[in-house]
Amino acid sequence: MIVDRVLVQGGGIGGLVAATALARRGVEVDVVERRLAGSVLGVGLNQPSNALRAMEEIGVLDDCLAAGYQWDDLRMISADGTVLAEIPPPPAPGLPARNNGIQRRELCRVLLDAAAKAGARLYHDATTAALRDDDDGVEVTFTGRDTPAPGRYDLVAGFDGIRSAARRYLFGDRYEPRLTGFSVWRISLPRPPELDGVVYAFAGNVKATLIPLSADDSYIALVAPEESVQQKTTPSRIAAQMRAMLQEFGGWIGGLAKHISQENSAAHGPIEQVTLDEPWYRGRVLIGGDAAHATSPHMAQGAAMAAEDAVVLAQELERATSVAEALDAWWKRRIPRAGLVQDYSAELMRQEQGKASSGRPEAAGTSDPGRARSPCPAVLNRAGPGVHPRMIDEDD
Ligand SMILES: Cc1cc2nc3c(=O)[nH]c(=O)nc-3n(C[C@H](O)[C@H](O)[C@H](O)COP(=O)(O)OP(=O)(O)OC[C@H]3O[C@@H](n4cnc5c(N)ncnc54)[C@H](O)[C@@H]3O)c2cc1C
Repeated sequence: MIVDRVLVQGGGIGGLVAATALARRGVEVDVVERRLAGSVLGVGLNQPSNALRAMEEIGVLDDCLAAGYQWDDLRMISADGTVLAEIPPPPAPGLPARNNGIQRRELCRVLLDAAAKAGARLYHDATTAALRDDDDGVEVTFTGRDTPAPGRYDLVAGFDGIRSAARRYLFGDRYEPRLTGFSVWRISLPRPPELDGVVYAFAGNVKATLIPLSADDSYIALVAPEESVQQKTTPSRIAAQMRAMLQEFGGWIGGLAKHISQENSAAHGPIEQVTLDEPWYRGRVLIGGDAAHATSPHMAQGAAMAAEDAVVLAQELERATSVAEALDAWWKRRIPRAGLVQDYSAELMRQEQGKASSGRPEAAGTSDPGRARSPCPAVLNRAGPGVHPRMIDEDD
C-alpha cells in the first residue's frame, strides 16, 4: 500500500465506507465528522444493487440486509391510483437482493461499527482547521471538541457532503452547488401495506417516491418545482404542505395524507447539483461523493456513488505505485459513472415535468470527455431506475 496514514473528512456514507475499505487494508485512518455522535441527517434511502456490491466489498452486506427491507419490482402509479408499469430491476448476479430500503440511522450504525472494527478512529464534533499539502504529505491541524493531534497524513479524502469545505480548499468557490429549480419534501411514515417495493407516483407537477425501509417503516419524498426556495420553515409547516400536495393523488397514495403525523422527521430543501470540470483532487487532497458530484435524487444513486467512490479509491491505492497514479486512475474510473447518474437524473427530472431535452442533457454542463460517454436514451421516458449503471466490479 502506498499510503500509511489517511485522514477522511466527513463521517457520512462515503467517508465511513472509505475509512472501512482503507483500514481493512492496514491503513491508519482518522475520520473527522462535524456532527455530534448519534446525529444522523435524513430519513432513509434505497440501496440499489451497485450500492449492495459496495457494502459487500467492505463486509457489511448481511448487516445492511438484516437492517433493511429487500424488494424487487418498482411500480409507477398515475394520479388516480392506476398502476402504469411494474419494472423489474436489472439482475444482480451473486447478490441475495437487488434493492434494499434502509433507515439512514441503521445504515450509519452499520457503517460506524464496520469502520471501528476495521481500526479507523472516529472523531465527532471535529473538523480540520488548516491543511498544508506538499509533495510528500499533508500537514493538518484540527478544531472541535475531540480531535486527532495535529499531524501529517499521506492523503486527505474529503467526503464532506454537498457543502464541502475540502472542495473549497481545493477550488475556492468555483463549484458551489447549483439550484435545479426543484425542491424535495420528505417525512417518515408507517409502512402502508400496499408498499412492498419502491413506488413512483405522479399528480400534476408533483412526483411522489415511496420507499419501504423495514416491516414497519417507510418514507415518502415529494418533488415539485420551486423557483424561490423557502428560507424559514418548520417541520409542522412542511408536513402541512405535504398533506396538501398529497390531496392531488387518488387511491391509497392520496389516503396517506391523513397518516402524515411524524412531523419531527419532516424535512424540506432545494435539489442542488455539483459538477466539476476538472479532476476531483490536487496533490494529496481529494473529494468524493456529494462533495464532487451531488446529483438530483431521481435515480436513488447518490449514496451508491459515494460508496463506489470510496471502494474504488481503496482499490486504486492498493494497485498503484504512487499517490498521483492512484488518484488519476481513481478519478478516471469514477467520472463516467458519476456523470452518467447526474445526466440521467437531471433528464428524468425534466421528462417528469414534460420538459424532455433532445439528445444529451446539458445538466452536467461540463466539457469533460468522460461525461460525453453518458448517452441519455429515449427509453428513459419515465423508466426511472430501470436504467441502472453497471456494477462497480464490471468492466469500467
Ligand atoms: C431526498 C433525497 C433522497 C435520496 N435518496 C437516495 C437513495 O435512495 N439512494 C441513494 O443512493 N442516494 C440517495 N440520496 C443521495 C444521498 O443522500 C447522498 O448522495 C449521500 O448521502 C452522499 O454521501 P456523502 O458521504 O458524499 O455525503 P453525506 O452523506 O452528506 O455525508 C457528509 C458528511 O460530512 C460531514 N461534514 C460536512 N462538512 C464537514 C466538515 N467541514 N468537517 C467534517 N465533517 C463534515 C457531514 O456532517 C456529513 O456527516 C438522496 C438524497 C436526497 C436529497
